[in-house]
Amino acid sequence: MTETVNIETKIPPKVVNILQIAGELAAKQGHNLYLVGGVVRDLILGTNISDFDLMVEGDAVQLAKRLAEVTQTELTIHARFKTARVTWTKWSFDLATARSETYDHPGALPRVQPGSLENDLFRRDFTINAMALELNPQRYLQLVDQYGGREDLEKGLVRVLHEKSFTDDATRIWRGIRYEQRLNFQIEKETLKLLQRDVPMLDTISGDRIRHELELVCNEECPHKIIGRAEELGVLAKVHPAFKDGGWLADKIGRARNLTLPNLKLPALYMSLLAYRLTGQECEDLISYLRPNRSTARVLRETHSLAGALGNLDKRNLPPSQVYKLLQGYSLPAIMANYLAGDSYVVNRHLYAFVTRYRFVKPSLTGNSLKKMGIEPGPEMKEMLERLKAAKLDRKVTSRKEEEELVRQWMEGTT
Ligand code: ATP
Repeated sequence: MTETVNIETKIPPKVVNILQIAGELAAKQGHNLYLVGGVVRDLILGTNISDFDLMVEGDAVQLAKRLAEVTQTELTIHARFKTARVTWTKWSFDLATARSETYDHPGALPRVQPGSLENDLFRRDFTINAMALELNPQRYLQLVDQYGGREDLEKGLVRVLHEKSFTDDATRIWRGIRYEQRLNFQIEKETLKLLQRDVPMLDTISGDRIRHELELVCNEECPHKIIGRAEELGVLAKVHPAFKDGGWLADKIGRARNLTLPNLKLPALYMSLLAYRLTGQECEDLISYLRPNRSTARVLRETHSLAGALGNLDKRNLPPSQVYKLLQGYSLPAIMANYLAGDSYVVNRHLYAFVTRYRFVKPSLTGNSLKKMGIEPGPEMKEMLERLKAAKLDRKVTSRKEEEELVRQWMEGTT
C-alpha cells in the first residue's frame, strides 16, 4: 500500500508551494524529483525542518535555475559538485542529482557516479534516513520506502541497510549513536552487533572526519547522552584511549549543558572538557589527530595549562585583582571546563566570580579621560588603566571622583 505523507501542517504554505513547483518543473523536464534522507524522517516525525534535500534523476543545476526563476528565490550553484541551493528566507532547498557510490577501500571517500533513486537510497546510512517522498504531480507526496524505514521510525529503531555499512564508512558509527540518542531510539540488535564488530574500522577514518562528527555531537541537544553511549560502546576511546573514563566526560558535559553565561559557546566548552584530563603530550596528540581550527586548539591547550596553574587560586582571601590577573588571558570555555572539572570549592568560587563579575568590571575613567588629565597614550597610560581596574576590583575606589584622585596621587608619585 502506498502511504502519502501530509506536509501541509508541518511547513508554511510558501515552502509547500516551492516543493510543488519544483516537482512540476522536474516533470516538465522529463525527470523524477524526490525529497530524500533525513528531511523525510523529520517530516514524518513532525520535528522542525529548515533544510530540504531534493534529489532529481536528471540535471540538478538546470532544475534549480528554473526553480529559482519561477519562485523568485535565491540561487547558489556549486559547479564542482553539480549541486545547487535555492533559498527563501530561512528555508533552503539543496538539489542534487541521484547518485550511486562505491568505496575503493574501507574509510575511503566514496567514488560517485550518477544513478537512480534506487542506488541513491542504497548508499545511505540507516533505514530511517533512506526514505524518499515523490514530488512529481502524479505521485505527489507518496512515500518511497524500500528498506522499511517507516516501520523502524514507528518502532524507534536505527538499522543499517546492509552488513558492510560500517565497514564502508565507519563515521556511520558516530551517526548511528547520534540518531539513537537524539531521537530516543535504540540501535537495532543486529546493527548493534555489526557496530561492535566494526568499532576497529574507526581507525580507517581521518582525524578531520572524526572531528566533524564530534562537532556534530557538540551541536546536539543531548551531547552528554551521545558521549556516554559512545564510551559504553568503545567508540569514544577510539578518539583517544584516555576517554575510557567511567562516564566522567559524559557527566561533565551533562552539567555543562545547564550553564548559561553571556558569550559562552557550549560546543566549545564541551570540546575543552575533552582536554581536561589529558597530559600535555596527550593533549598535543589529540590536537595533531583532530586538527581543530586555531581557536579550538587554543582552547584545548588553555584548558590544560589552566588546570596546572589553578593551585595559585586555592587561597580563600585572594584579592579579586589577583584572581583577575591570573585568569584574564584564558578563554571562557577553558575557565568553565576547569570550573566543572575541578574539585576545590575555593578555586571554583574565584572562577565563578571572575566569569560572572570581575571580567565585566571597568573603571569609570577611560583613555580619553586620562588624556584630559595630561597622560599621553602609551605604556604609562596602559599601566594606569590596569591599576585603576585593579583598584576598582578590590573596591579601593568606588566612584569616578575617587579614581581621579588616585590618578592624581600616582602622577604626583605619592602612592
Ligand atoms: P541531521 O538532522 O543531523 O542534519 P540528516 O539526516 O539531515 O541529519 P545529513 O548529515 O544532513 O543528515 O545528511 C543527509 C542525508 O544524507 C542523511 O539523512 C543520509 O541519508 C545521508 N548521509 C549523510 N551522511 C551519510 C553517510 N556517512 N553515509 C550514508 N549516508 C549518509
